[in-house]
Amino acid sequence: MGVHTAQLVRNSGYPCSMGAGKDNYSGNVVSRSRMIISLLMLILVLVLSLVWQASKTMQSNRETATQVLQDYARLVCDEYARRAMGQIGYYGYFAHINEISQALFAGADILAPDKVPENNLALYRFLVDPASAEVRFSQRPDTVATLEAYLLRKAGDILAKGPSESGFFIDHSIIEGHAHSFVFARASDSDRVFGFTVDRSGLAERLQQLFERDALLPRSLAGGEITNEFLFLRFKDHNEEVLFQSRETYDPNLLASRGLNMEYEGVFDGHTIEAAIASGVADSLVIGGLPRSRLPVLIITVILTVGLLIAAIRQLYLEHALMKMRSNFVSEVSHELRTPLTQIRMFAETLLFERYKTADDKRRALEIINRESQRLIHLVENVLRFSGRNGDQRDLTLVQTDLVPLVQRVVDEFRPLAEGAGNSLLVDLDARAEAEVDTDALRQILLNLLDNAIKYGPEDQTVRVSLQQRTDSIRLSVCDQGPGIPRADREKIWGGYYRLERERDSAIAGTGIGLAVVRELVTLQGGSVRVVDSEDGGACFVIEIPRVQESP
Ligand code: ADP
Repeated sequence: MGVHTAQLVRNSGYPCSMGAGKDNYSGNVVSRSRMIISLLMLILVLVLSLVWQASKTMQSNRETATQVLQDYARLVCDEYARRAMGQIGYYGYFAHINEISQALFAGADILAPDKVPENNLALYRFLVDPASAEVRFSQRPDTVATLEAYLLRKAGDILAKGPSESGFFIDHSIIEGHAHSFVFARASDSDRVFGFTVDRSGLAERLQQLFERDALLPRSLAGGEITNEFLFLRFKDHNEEVLFQSRETYDPNLLASRGLNMEYEGVFDGHTIEAAIASGVADSLVIGGLPRSRLPVLIITVILTVGLLIAAIRQLYLEHALMKMRSNFVSEVSHELRTPLTQIRMFAETLLFERYKTADDKRRALEIINRESQRLIHLVENVLRFSGRNGDQRDLTLVQTDLVPLVQRVVDEFRPLAEGAGNSLLVDLDARAEAEVDTDALRQILLNLLDNAIKYGPEDQTVRVSLQQRTDSIRLSVCDQGPGIPRADREKIWGGYYRLERERDSAIAGTGIGLAVVRELVTLQGGSVRVVDSEDGGACFVIEIPRVQESP
């Protein structure tokens, strides 16, 4: 299996169709892999488009459901506005202004607190006489000067307007940054204007009572299940300040709002009502309820699909690499088988047709046949051992053996091959080396290492084989003067099918399984193997085998 072997292969004259076959084979594999990758990509595109479709449908369902719930919320706003304007405008403001009007007509002092019935909507009352520029209050307000000026101006406007249909006027204004609401009426003498300032806390109380009184959504909806407890409602004044709010939390997506204007004499002009239905009761109003966002599920689906595709492509790539390694291996083994077979056939014919001249020639032919058939057996043993890897220790029979004669025998057997390649073998054997080994396995290990030393080392090198007995183990090493093994490859060479980069274009034939078989056999005997730099700069393969095997 040395350099000369590879050259013989080239010169053997046999047509070598292996390359073309391999090209076709790997071409098929590549196109099959491409097809699988294209299919996987297609699956990815399909999954992505399904996810996109699902998210679109989900979004549109959600939009429709949101729309429906907002419509109901708008209904709540309308109903609350109707009740608020009726109850507070008519039964509150209008009723109270009438009472004050009657008291004034009866000649009572409308500004004396005990003269007019209590009404929690009125903060204080006032009587304005624009002619004398006099403003009187039932209770002195804080910003009296500003208020006096404001009420005088308003009273002038009201008197100028003439009588109103409802008999009262409502005004919402912001004075010194604060929201105020006033209810005015003309006195029967038509010279004065009276009225009251709305009590905001009283108004808020009324708004709350209104909310708590009756369900705002019609009973026909959801069988009256949706009481006001499930509603968010907020009432804001003309200064955007909240007068009443039913609860703290709501879903902003479901919020509907309604601005109030001059309806009911502008009782809430510039005010806003906002309402939302709690998403928890959505399924009573919308079939299927408010669709929950499936976005996280969809994102996880996409991530999983992409992850699986990457795993599948990686698996494909590994499969492809393994197939390539196997096909290289088959081609290498065929090359290695053909060379000794060619030699055997050639020299067998020489003997058969008596083409030799001297007895020495005849002997040489027999020696070559013997050597090449041994090489064949060695190669076949390696292939068998490699293909039957993962077998257990029952494969080997470990017996206490004197290793010196065993190693010496293998080295002598190998010596003609080494010398034929111009190498010399130097043996340094410890006289006492004994261990529990399988003799055939040790022979195969040594032959593989010697074969590599000769194959990869230069001509005229000296290969050293040494055997030492240590306390617990024996150490067998084979060191050459070749190029050595780079540190980066020192683990990879044991894996099988692995050849160094520099061997790619070299003429040295090899299958990449010799060292895998070495490690396998050493491990089965409880030992270990490593490669280090030899003293001469070559490779030194060191094997340690325990002297006594541990019982399993
Ligand atoms: P093969 O020799 O058939 O290629 P091996 O498993 O025996 O397979 O060796 C694996 C690789 O390790 C070889 O291809 C070679 O590159 C490298 N190698 C093995 N032994 C030596 C050595 N003594 N010197 C240099 N390189 C070696």
